[in-house]
Amino acid sequence: MKLCTPLTILVSLPSLLGAHANDLAAQTQPATRHLTDLNWMEVREWVPARTTTVLLPVGTLEAHGVVPNGADILVPDSLALRMAAELDVLVAPTINYGVNTGLDEFPGTFGVSESLLRETAEAVMRGLDRSGFRNIIVLNGHGPNFGPLNDAAREVFRDTDARILVINWWSVTPDITEEVYGTQGGHAGNNETAAILALRPDLVHEDRYEGPSQATAFATGWQAWPFPSSIGLYAPGEGLPDFDLEKAERYFARVVTRMSEISRDVIEKWDRAGL
Ligand SMILES: [Zn+2]
Repeated sequence: MKLCTPLTILVSLPSLLGAHANDLAAQTQPATRHLTDLNWMEVREWVPARTTTVLLPVGTLEAHGVVPNGADILVPDSLALRMAAELDVLVAPTINYGVNTGLDEFPGTFGVSESLLRETAEAVMRGLDRSGFRNIIVLNGHGPNFGPLNDAAREVFRDTDARILVINWWSVTPDITEEVYGTQGGHAGNNETAAILALRPDLVHEDRYEGPSQATAFATGWQAWPFPSSIGLYAPGEGLPDFDLEKAERYFARVVTRMSEISRDVIEKWDRAGL
């Protein structure tokens, strides 16, 4: 029988005790990155030892042509999950209701006021700060949310240690849309349809697409209330939905990479500047 030296006992006892402990910090691939799925002890092990960065998706319910009304929720949700793996960070629960504007008459389209989104986002950011996160990356899926989210971020960064980045995924990727589709994008156009195709092809109803008559270009000089089409083009004749799955997957993979690059770059610059 092999004798146990004191050193062996010191080494082996913690590993025996730890056999039932879920030590996330020691794992390279965690079972989950969602704050909703972690218990408080796991959060304590993760933050700040393993990461001080959290992703916060924000969306709304709004008509989107032949893709789901929840497109602006599904896209930042999925971006968060994919970016979390690339950046080795955690994901906060999504804020699902945002600020809607000209499509409110379309069935199943509704949101909340600007002030309510701002207050909600501010409360969530403050909660994430109190939970030990230093960097809050807001992944916005819907244009009119941008103002209230930045208003909230400005309030929170001034009187906490939090550093906050708010990104509109479609605004930082027009060159990728141009490269993959050869045109600009649109609301529920090629870019958003591609994102949903890459994530949930079962929710994209190409059979309901009737062609350019279902779309209207966003024009300068007039604004219609309600806007007459849920597919809105950034430029006339450009950005219509495209249903090529291979292009969609290639497009969305590059969007994920771009979003991660921006996040990493801003965090590095915050660190370098000692902010
Ligand atoms: Zn959208």
